[in-house]
Amino acid sequence: MKTIIQKVNPECFGDGELEKACDILKGGGLVAFPTETVYGLGGDALSPEAAHKIYEAKGRPSDNPLIVHIADMDSLYDVAGQIGKKAVALAEAFWPGPLTMIFPKRAKVPVSTTGGLDTVAVRMPVHPVAAALIRCSGIYIAAPSANTSGRPSPTKAEHVIEDMDGRVDMILDGGPVGIGIESTIVDMTEETPIILRPGYITKENMEKIIGAVDIDPAVLTEPKKDVAAKAPGMKYRHYAPKGKLAIVEGDSMKVIEKINMLVREREREGKKAAVIAAKESREFYRCSEVYCIGSRKNEGSIAAGLYDILRQMDHIGAEYIYAESFAEDTLGQAIMNRMLKAAGYNRIKV
Ligand code: AMP
Ligand code: MG
Repeated sequence: MKTIIQKVNPECFGDGELEKACDILKGGGLVAFPTETVYGLGGDALSPEAAHKIYEAKGRPSDNPLIVHIADMDSLYDVAGQIGKKAVALAEAFWPGPLTMIFPKRAKVPVSTTGGLDTVAVRMPVHPVAAALIRCSGIYIAAPSANTSGRPSPTKAEHVIEDMDGRVDMILDGGPVGIGIESTIVDMTEETPIILRPGYITKENMEKIIGAVDIDPAVLTEPKKDVAAKAPGMKYRHYAPKGKLAIVEGDSMKVIEKINMLVREREREGKKAAVIAAKESREFYRCSEVYCIGSRKNEGSIAAGLYDILRQMDHIGAEYIYAESFAEDTLGQAIMNRMLKAAGYNRIKV
């Protein structure tokens, strides 16, 4: 398949520029597009054939459900039922934006889209290209992240091209995304909503609007084999670079010392090692490959840089990667959730 790659300036484009993309979507094809979180791989959410194409292009297990993207509140009532007051309040506060809510699905949403579940995950993105694409095509867009299953999510069009060139009909290149990690997912089918995947919208943000919100304990711990994950996707190894990644935790000076020691050991074995460090500590590493992920004073910068750095590890052929850890509150919780999954929960405590 020849993939069309089209540049779109998110700050300045006419809906006419998206005509080709909309035609592809309406015809059952696949278009990758930027959202505020990561790039999505879009297809018609009400078409089982489009859902199958998405799973195939990503190499994604078909029990891992897709998020349905909408552009207005009427669409929410069209695809989902039992939308209570708390959900409406969260939608008013955070939509359009990086929040995904789970509800019982309506019959028109095929189980191919929901990975066999009778619930559906819905999100209203704020990115101008994503929003315009939903509006112009007039469909609901099922869109997982536009990466090969298991690889780091794409935050730049180059990442999408790396994974999806030749596998999808079109890639819309709207430049780097803003947030850089996937949406917060909250299950609204329980009396007290439960966060299944942490993201830019935090527990604290939501509690200000609706009171108590729980967090699935699987968010920061390795999922147990015999316990079914509430978000089926969270049970898979994810976001992973090809090299062996370890997260080193503890007092910051001891972490630096430990990482320097591990790097020395690997280099003595003739292996290629790399370090992922915060801006504040990068100068203390004695390693030729030190990558700065962002400043500890600005967690947003760390989230935005994470997946690009994990992909760079593949580009330089790092066999061993040692990363500093980050605080597990607010946005740091989402960052650590992704890093731990990328590391297959390989943490070294010092
Ligand atoms: P991605 O599309 O790559 O952002 O991944 C979507 C995530 O949403 C996966 O972890 C899915 O398991 C989760 N998800 C989607 N729909 C549902 C649902 N109905 N119930 C629980 N989790 C869901
Ligand atoms: Mg994904």
